[in-house]
Amino acid sequence: MKPVTRPAVLVFGGHDPSGGAGIQADIETIGVLGGHAATVITALTIQDSRSVSGFLPAPLDIVIQQARMVLDDLSIAAIKIGMVGSIEICEAIHTLLTEHPEIPVVLDPVIYGGGGGTLSSGELVQAIRTLLIPRTTIATPNRRELQQLAQEGDSIQACGAELISLGCDNLLITGTDDPLPGESPDQVHHLLLTADGESTSLQQQRLDHHYHGSGCTLSSSIAVNLAVGKSVRQAVTEGLDFTWEALSNGFQPGRGQYFPGRLSHQKLQ
Ligand code: PLP
Repeated sequence: MKPVTRPAVLVFGGHDPSGGAGIQADIETIGVLGGHAATVITALTIQDSRSVSGFLPAPLDIVIQQARMVLDDLSIAAIKIGMVGSIEICEAIHTLLTEHPEIPVVLDPVIYGGGGGTLSSGELVQAIRTLLIPRTTIATPNRRELQQLAQEGDSIQACGAELISLGCDNLLITGTDDPLPGESPDQVHHLLLTADGESTSLQQQRLDHHYHGSGCTLSSSIAVNLAVGKSVRQAVTEGLDFTWEALSNGFQPGRGQYFPGRLSHQKLQ
């Protein structure tokens, strides 16, 4: 029998007790796409499918010890960073990334919870910009997150160029926010800026509901695609397809947002 290989993705992220977003979204996505998720929890959040009411960052020394043990033992093929939790944890992740320059990094800059409520502070956003963006292979902000991360740009393109100039190799600016004037409302307009200087517009049919965990699903699918050796462009287009499929299989377990149906995915790779 052929030995089973599952590339390992190290995930830094928060726990969402509703199960729609955060670490659970990462584990489901990475597992169903043929990878293995090794998870370091950066924060415990208090939320449901409607809103966030608070969060508690994980103890710094536990985060560092957990990440070091996993990095020493498992062969980590990609790192995915979601919710960071605190400035100290951001600094620790920065140090770990500096020690492992060969591992591709996917950064989902988590600032707001899906249903509203904040999962980061302004100072933490600045720490992410300074310490993590320069070591990022691809970041996946939505437009609102992009505007928080960029300080100078006055357009989506300019904000994107600013993050690239800080050392972020590639950027996928997702367009799930409300459509801009001139954009067709039945399409979601994403913008991919790549290391070779290309700018590509990627469109998907806009689905009817609001979803909790779509950003986590997308960034984790890109991470596992990079972990199996796909190019950034391929990782992004396949990640967008997987996420759209999961959203179109979405379900509403509570009284708020829909959750992506990640486990409905059939095609194991
Ligand atoms: N990470 C955690 C722990 C969260 O609770 C959330 C949203 O609530 C997110 C990430 C981001 O969620 P989304 O994928 O909906 O942007």
